[in-house]
Amino acid sequence: MQENEIYRKCIACNQIKTRDTLIKITKKKSGGEIKVNPDSQFFGRSIYICKNEECVNNAFKKGKIFKILKIKDDDLLKEKIRAVLDK
Ligand SMILES: [Zn+2]
Repeated sequence: MQENEIYRKCIACNQIKTRDTLIKITKKKSGGEIKVNPDSQFFGRSIYICKNEECVNNAFKKGKIFKILKIKDDDLLKEKIRAVLDK
């Protein structure tokens, strides 16, 4: 375990994992635009989900991800996240 490693919590399984095993989803501070794995110039509130199908599905269960991000249901968001998975 390296000290300079960045750890974040998956919103689906609540496990703390290293940043590179997670998908980052950020809601921009101004305007509320949502981006999956944004670059470092994109500032806002971020959540993290494990890079696996199960956690992605669980994150969308009962609209959990939308509640956390405080956004309206957005079917496209799941597609965008799954696109990152399929790489
Ligand atoms: Zn997870």
